[in-house]
Amino acid sequence: MKTTTSINPATEEEIANYTRISEKTTKDKVAKANETYKTWKKTSFDERSKLMHKLATIFDNNKEKYAQLMTEEMGKVIDQSRKEIEKCALICRYYADNIADLLADKIVKTEASKSYVTFQPLGVTLAIMPWNFPFYQVIRFAAPAVMTGNTGVLKHASNVQGCAFALEEAFAEAGFPEGVFTNLNVSSDVIKPIIEDKNIVAVTLTGSEPAGRSVAKIAGENLKKTVLELGGSDAYIILEDVDLEKATDLATFGRLQNNGQTCIAAKRFIVLEEVYDDFLKLFAKKMKAAKMGAPTEEDVYYGPMARTDLRNEIHEQVEKTIEQGGKLILGGKIPDRKGAYYPATILADLKPGMTAFDEELFGPVASVIKAKDEEEAIELANNSTFGLGSGVITSNSKRGENIALQLEAGNSFVNKLVSSDPRLPFGGIKNSGYGRELSSYGIKEFVNTKSIWID
Ligand code: NDP
Repeated sequence: MKTTTSINPATEEEIANYTRISEKTTKDKVAKANETYKTWKKTSFDERSKLMHKLATIFDNNKEKYAQLMTEEMGKVIDQSRKEIEKCALICRYYADNIADLLADKIVKTEASKSYVTFQPLGVTLAIMPWNFPFYQVIRFAAPAVMTGNTGVLKHASNVQGCAFALEEAFAEAGFPEGVFTNLNVSSDVIKPIIEDKNIVAVTLTGSEPAGRSVAKIAGENLKKTVLELGGSDAYIILEDVDLEKATDLATFGRLQNNGQTCIAAKRFIVLEEVYDDFLKLFAKKMKAAKMGAPTEEDVYYGPMARTDLRNEIHEQVEKTIEQGGKLILGGKIPDRKGAYYPATILADLKPGMTAFDEELFGPVASVIKAKDEEEAIELANNSTFGLGSGVITSNSKRGENIALQLEAGNSFVNKLVSSDPRLPFGGIKNSGYGRELSSYGIKEFVNTKSIWID
């Protein structure tokens, strides 16, 4: 029997084995999700809201337990794991409290005696989710889906099946009927027949570009809608007027949070030449001072990466960039210790064409780039195949806003690290994917936007 194994990336020890389900069981679970959909879609917003509030309370009450599980499975620093669970509760409450407004019919004046747009559920959505925010990414899809009247099946990353099953149990404990939210412990090799299953109406994926391309291709052939969130190489423009202390604090946290493995992490720092040397010096000092260690320890700034293969991959990207002429300022060596650790690393003097400029670096490695002026900084920021997040650090917020409007990305923040907020849409352009999550925009991705005309 095939199994999925969770390995603690801090110790490289096996935590648990989870038996993968067969093709037949998978089909049955998807069919059950569709059966449940037929009755679930008829429930009122009030009924769904009550259960969603219960789910939020379960997150509150089990915060420590879930945080420990997440930290054990993928290495997130424990306090950041707690915050992730808090955010899950926040998202549940946002959709529970606002569903009636978010999906309210929209009257449109026409020649009809009455005409309006109504938003109806569609059926079973398949969610393919990554390990980097193993609770949050799932809730970001599941809370709006379930509140709409859809049901969901989850194919979670293989290294976080403990979190996947904990989420399934939480939905059951909250009182959601069986089939509203189901975990499918399957390998990504068998995703094709699941997407093709007649009971699946849509697919949402957060993960790498290759996974996105493959899933979108299969879904496209089957005329099933997709939403893709595929990561990025977010540029942060540091203007010459900045307070360097604040800018480097933001840069350090932005690059090291979640051990560097965030799709919207600050990855490329584009610094105006007037402050380039000073920025680099102070940034290196702070990155060096950030404590790397076991993610269960409270005073640790960043822990190991989620898997050793991912750590080895980022090290290769660093080495390639150095060969291409990138300057190593800090880090860049695999530490001599057990675990998927990689030190805070800075590569400077980068140019387009170098690996660390062109590719996503999913780990604690910062790319620093010099720009001669604002115009060149914008050009460099937009010189990317990605377009997820972006930022501007300046003491002049009007100037920052003007630049933010010119950045090719789904999210552009001034003087703040990009982060998701349930009230605002989240998603990217270019190879960062398409479609939106969260807010009124996200919830309308998987609905039947239906016109009603009464003559
Ligand atoms: P993947 O994209 O491979 O994994 C994300 C999810 O997609 C997992 O559930 C995975 O399942 C599944 N998956 C992978 N390949 C396919 C496929 N062909 N068809 C269907 N599902 C698939 O990410 P990795 O874990 O390998 O990380 C590699 C890189 O991806 C990172 O270094 C980073 O650049 C990027 N990434 C971006 C994320 C983001 O938030 N945007 C999140 C995670 C990764 P399984 O685990 O079983 O393979």
